[in-house]
Order: sequence, then structure tokens, then C-alpha cells
Amino acid sequence: MLARRPLIAGNWKMNGSLALVDEFAGQIAAIRLPEDVTVVLFPPVAYLDALARALKECAVQLGAQNGHGEAAGAFTGEIAPEMVRDLGAQWMLVGHSERREHYGETDSVVADKFAGALRAGLNPILCVGETLAQRNADQAETVVREQVQAVASRVGAQAFSKGTLAYEPIWAIGTGQTATPGQAQAMHAVIRAEIARIVGSAAEQMRVLYGGSMNAENAEMLLSEREIDGGLIGGASLEAKSFSSIVATAGTLATAEQK
Ligand code: PEP
Repeated sequence: MLARRPLIAGNWKMNGSLALVDEFAGQIAAIRLPEDVTVVLFPPVAYLDALARALKECAVQLGAQNGHGEAAGAFTGEIAPEMVRDLGAQWMLVGHSERREHYGETDSVVADKFAGALRAGLNPILCVGETLAQRNADQAETVVREQVQAVASRVGAQAFSKGTLAYEPIWAIGTGQTATPGQAQAMHAVIRAEIARIVGSAAEQMRVLYGGSMNAENAEMLLSEREIDGGLIGGASLEAKSFSSIVATAGTLATAEQK
């Protein structure tokens, strides 16, 4: 970590309640968050407004877990990036593996959503990652590179360079089986090389997060790797205690690096 400002993001997925919003925000508000870390929460969109109000005194930014590629139209049940922007969000997850798997989001749909987020003035986080079968077949790097290229070729290098990436091996999401720091670092280096090929020296500014069973216990080991610029955390982001512990770890590493 730490050539770039670390980013710790929490993805609540389809979990939570208004009660959790109050409890979580109360606990986070009582903690002094490290200044060197960008902290973002992705609650269900139904709770974005309540969480934005509850956290208005905190340096926690908010994002949507998903958004449509278009700004408006006959897309019943969908939410435009512009709408989540109106609710106070600054970020949008794009291409999470659960969206790709359960809702058939192809690379092309993901690319449209990335473009939509940028159009609305949101910061997209593009999630990429391979299945266990793809890893075992030695296809992991090719799959991840193709996921990156699909979006970059749709939006163009300059727009692409405004995004953040999250490497999330599918076999590590929600399984408790995290990638080893070596596995994560190796794939992050592949991603860094790929984005450098696309955007040149701007790649040095682009953050690449790791996601997949990161928690308070393994965060230090993962975040210490040079190419890991932060974390995208699912399960462990539902408790303020574990989430803030990961944020604190990132802050400690950032401070140590600056010395
Ligand atoms: C995720 O949802 O992006 C994720 C990484 O989940 P978990 O931390 O629970 O594996």
C-alpha cells in the first residue's frame, strides 16, 4: 500500500435496516477516523439518505452499490447515477461479481454503468475478479485483464483513468477464504501493468483495492502489500467495530509509510 491515498470501502450488500444505520453511524461518529484514509460506505440505496444524514458530521463518503447506465427513462425498478448523486452519494460500485452472476451483467453493461457514473459526477469503482475454476485453469490474469479492457475501450483512456479498481477474486467473496497477500499482490501488479498500458503514467494515481473476506484480523497483512491501495469489505463492514478497525489499520500503515 501507500503510493496512493488508501481507500477503505464497506459494501453492505442487501443487508441492514434503519436501526443499523442509527447504531452504525452512532459508533462511527464516536471514533476519530484517520485523516490519511478515504472512507466510503455503500449501504442499500434505500438507506443512503438516512445514512447521509446520520453521518453528516463525519468524513465518511457514501456510494451506491449499483446504478443504471442511463440518466432517465423507462427502466422500471432501476436507479440512475444522477439520482444517487442527489441523495448525497459520491461513489458507485460497478460490475460487482454478484451483479455479474445474479443479474447477468456483461462487460458491456458494466462499461455502460461506468460511463453513467462518470456522467453523473460519481467516482466509479470497477470490480474485477476470476472464479475458482478460472484460476485453476490458469485463466485468472486473462479474465481480469479482459474485464479491465472492456470498460477502458468503451469509455476511453482519459475517462477510465478517473476510476478506481477493486480486485475481488470471486472464490474469496463471502467465503472466509481470503487471497494470500502474495496472490493478491501478484494480481494487483498485473492490473497495474494493464492500466499503465491503457492510461500511461496516470496509472500511478489509480487506486486498486482488494476485496474478498478482508477483516480486522487479516487487513494489516493484505494492506501492507505495495500494490494494494485499500479494501472493499463486505461482511466485516456491517459492524462498526470491525470496519473501523480496518480503517485504523490503513491509517497506521499510511502514517508509517510517510515517516
Ligand atoms: C464484497 O462484497 O465485495 C466482499 C468483498 O465481501 P466479503 O468481504 O464479505 O468477502
